[in-house]
Amino acid sequence: MRRKLVVGNWKMNGTLASNAALLADIKAGYSNLACDVAVCVPAPYFAQCQSLLLGTPIAFGGQDVSIHDTGAYTGEVAASMLQDFGCKYVIVGHSERRAYHAEGNDLVAQKAVKALKAGLVPIACLGETLEDREAGRTTEVVGQQMSAILSVTAPEDMEKIVIAYEPVWAIGTGKTATPQMAQEVHAMIRSMLCAKNAELASRVQILYGGSMKPNNAKELMAMSDIDGGLVGGAALNATDFIAITQAA
Ligand code: PEP
Repeated sequence: MRRKLVVGNWKMNGTLASNAALLADIKAGYSNLACDVAVCVPAPYFAQCQSLLLGTPIAFGGQDVSIHDTGAYTGEVAASMLQDFGCKYVIVGHSERRAYHAEGNDLVAQKAVKALKAGLVPIACLGETLEDREAGRTTEVVGQQMSAILSVTAPEDMEKIVIAYEPVWAIGTGKTATPQMAQEVHAMIRSMLCAKNAELASRVQILYGGSMKPNNAKELMAMSDIDGGLVGGAALNATDFIAITQAA
């Protein structure tokens, strides 16, 4: 039985004051977490999370990572820097980075490798656009995104990666994939992992993301291949975020 994982993606939101209040409310609200929980925050707030989450079961991480180790790459943040601050996770290939920063499948795969090498857990995001879905290309598009990740992942590293299926048309739109729609894609992703190593594949956490809220989280996470959620908007509200962790 895989343990569930709920990750909040704060995106480019927050201030020192609002983060402190949000984390205080999350810390006050959770009890006996039955799942793994993390927040992925803007890089300037790593130090704040490191200090405020110390001694709690809530992990934190980044939202992107450079493919370079060090040097003249202005604006980039290296995997070793995330490590330095105690990040556990890093999101790679979020659809907003694919769309606004032209990140392609190969670059995203390289980012996953960089994260793994630094001892971080990459949360690799996959997902089709509405246009892809309507054209019947979901399996093809998500399959290509997944293949790129698998092609650079050593079998022994497979279970150190988290996959997040996030249909682009469901992110921040209030439209959620039905549990059945999501399960279908999750099962396809699992079968690709199985083709590489069936035993390890059964341990990989595959999260769903896209307008996950307290009122739909339970149904989604009840599906056999949905092992948790990557949560955007609802992660900025402590009550909603805690409710989602409790649904896991
Ligand atoms: C996300 O940003 O990864 C996400 C799933 O956002 P939302 O929950 O707001 O759709």
